[in-house]
Amino acid sequence: MPLKPDSTLTSAADAAIRPSACPGLVRVVAARDGGICRVRLPGGVLRAAAARALAAAALTHARGVLELTNRANVQIRGVRASEEAALSAALIAAGLGPHGLHGADTASTRAQTCVADELRNVMQSPLAGLDPHAHDTAPLAAALIDMLQGEPRFAALSPKFALLLDGGERLAERAHPHDIWLAALPREAEDAGQAHYALGLAGCPGETPLGTLAASDICATVRALLHAFLDFADNDSRIQRMRDIAATNAMNATNAMDALLERARGHAGFALAPYRRDEATRPRATATNAALRLGAHALQPDGSGYVGAQPALGRIEAATLNALATLAQTHGDGTLRVTPWQGLLMPNVSAQAMPAVLAAFDALGLVVTRAHPLARLIACAGSPGCAKSHADTKADAHRLAALLPHDANAAEVHLSGCERSCAAAHRATFTLLACAPGHYDLYRRDDVDEKAARFGRLVAPNLTIEAAAPLLARRTRSNTDV
Ligand code: SF4
Repeated sequence: MPLKPDSTLTSAADAAIRPSACPGLVRVVAARDGGICRVRLPGGVLRAAAARALAAAALTHARGVLELTNRANVQIRGVRASEEAALSAALIAAGLGPHGLHGADTASTRAQTCVADELRNVMQSPLAGLDPHAHDTAPLAAALIDMLQGEPRFAALSPKFALLLDGGERLAERAHPHDIWLAALPREAEDAGQAHYALGLAGCPGETPLGTLAASDICATVRALLHAFLDFADNDSRIQRMRDIAATNAMNATNAMDALLERARGHAGFALAPYRRDEATRPRATATNAALRLGAHALQPDGSGYVGAQPALGRIEAATLNALATLAQTHGDGTLRVTPWQGLLMPNVSAQAMPAVLAAFDALGLVVTRAHPLARLIACAGSPGCAKSHADTKADAHRLAALLPHDANAAEVHLSGCERSCAAAHRATFTLLACAPGHYDLYRRDDVDEKAARFGRLVAPNLTIEAAAPLLARRTRSNTDV
């Protein structure tokens, strides 16, 4: 499958790795404010030692600023020219690279590491393995990553190609579309104690599944589906993601997916059972309560649980990350989990320690309550970091936050520097799309017609932040439209 040529790699050494504009551990991609190095974290798990290594690397090779991403990864911004290889080597030495790849730093090992790194896009709930009411998806996620990395043909998958594994946790991001999604069925659908999952392609859990399967059949079935996908992609360079199968096919979407499934049946291990529209095969409708993202929450009968927080607009200083690593070792189990809301949580905190952790998060400047305006604002890198941006979205988001009321029920607002919408994989309730420095078109998601324009319905064009704030604030006081 041909990949698009890319001119944004930051060093000549990168010529050995496959072309893409997507940053990774080895592929440091140039931005206006320096290179971006993205570190994929399976399950979002970040151990204290690795957090310190990230902070040290950001200070040594970049400007000391990191970002939490909407795929629960971490990226270092502002990587200095000619320091990309040293940065990657430091992160790999800290255990942040793909498992099982070591050895001399040669063009060949860099290329191998790049591919293995990019075959780790398996999204889980930040509560995977922690929520006693859900299935622990960690072993399955590890098995899927091993399967992906163990098959040479899968190196052709796009670095963005991603899977979602939903164990039924009470806190999960289920609105981001994935190429393949798997969602645990209610326990009534279990067979001899084995979990069953609904499976869908190019969408989100909750949409109609294509079928169901036992946990023990997932790896082989996903493998068959990936081979079928690549059978299509090998013959059509426009097919990079699962959604492209339908978009580039003369057939309608349903027929295109049927053709893909038919092809998958020809590959070994395919074991998808028909989806039955009854209670037992309905994917779990577990509430994904946004209020559970921030603050202290019990998970166990003794009151122990986790504390969630969010750095403003996903940006975190190296010194703050170091302080969080120390807190995790003092009050938790020595780990942090990055969330798909550009935040993090500290798991396994005792009920007694929760107030101290909350106070420490607050003292570090993290947002710990849903009512805070910054808890509902998302902004992309903006003009200081991205040449495509029409405005300094992060600075404008901070100005907007100062003008909005504290309100735990207020809707999410996304400030995007251009139509690419890097900061939000989903459609936010409100989008401020930059049209000029300090000026934005305000859109509202239209629930009646989800297929409407990308950001929803245009509410008002060319607003300053000061003009947008009262429109957005009014929405928090009333059910009437803005
Ligand atoms: S949304 Fe547009 S302006 Fe913002 S970071 Fe992405 S490409 Fe740049």
